Amino acid sequence: MKPRVEIIALGGTIACRPDSGSGGVAPGLSGADLAAAVPALADVARIAARNLANVPSTEIGLPLLFDLVRAIRAHEADGVAGVVVTQGTDTIEETAFVLDLLHGGDMPVVVTGAMRNPTLPGADGPANLLAAVTCAAYPACRGLGAVVTLDDRIHAARWVQKCDTSSTGAFHSPAPLGWLAEGKAALYARPARRAPLPLPEGAGLPFVPILKPGLSDDPRLVHAALDAGAGGIVLDLAGGGHVHSGWLGALGAAVSRVPVVFASRTRGGRVLSRTYGQSGGEIDLLRRGLGGAGDLDALKARLLLMLLLMAGTPDRYCQLTDLSLPPGAA
Ligand code: ASP
Repeated sequence: MKPRVEIIALGGTIACRPDSGSGGVAPGLSGADLAAAVPALADVARIAARNLANVPSTEIGLPLLFDLVRAIRAHEADGVAGVVVTQGTDTIEETAFVLDLLHGGDMPVVVTGAMRNPTLPGADGPANLLAAVTCAAYPACRGLGAVVTLDDRIHAARWVQKCDTSSTGAFHSPAPLGWLAEGKAALYARPARRAPLPLPEGAGLPFVPILKPGLSDDPRLVHAALDAGAGGIVLDLAGGGHVHSGWLGALGAAVSRVPVVFASRTRGGRVLSRTYGQSGGEIDLLRRGLGGAGDLDALKARLLLMLLLMAGTPDRYCQLTDLSLPPGAA
């Protein structure tokens, strides 16, 4: 008997259809519509499909993702082989990371979407859905956490980034975990897993802005964030984690009140910890009590900080941020 795979659809380009009001496209196709358009899915798995939402992916918020995690847990407890989440690609790098942080099981959770909507020549949604279901049903893909498959590549949720507005090859990670071809998943790496974070029950959403200083930028942004009630701040800094020395006063005020984490606006590599000695360099920032985001970009660092704030354990940030290193090696 073929394995069971559940498709949970959230909307996005993969589910778009013509929108007469705007002249563009908008989400409207259901998960069942998406599955019905790819008969080859039946060769891979017994499919069930449903919607938790049908929205552009910028409308997805953490409460919806928490409902999604509850649904994923229920499916795993029910013996489902894998779950495929279809959604807009604009925020996949964030949603998949949240799922990865909260999903502790071995069942594959595979997030996919499409860069070309179904009205366009060469629409990639059907191929991406087939690849995602193949990955979700594939025994070797168990234990990977949440992954993102697009363009026949399998990316770890913790590192994947959308790097192009329209190319079908928009998704990148420093080292994809593997690829899909001829109905099989080939893996060349397995990411280290961490214990899942608790699913926040009843905690309010903290306000955690990302501040990205440019040249001659104004540190009043930091005070504005604090005055607006920030529960934490993520800085998206130059290079290995460097800011103009004129920001240090404001950052000192911030770090005495809330957790402040810095990531690199290069969106690649890791923030540094012991190389540059200038005022406002990474050594200085760490000495002043800011935390480094390790290899997480600012978007992912923000989500991790939000979940830790909701769990009441923001001090665990530095244990969890160095996801590319084996536990204990950070
Ligand atoms: N605007 C779309 C979204 O919902 C883009 C996409 O799906 O590729 O994210």
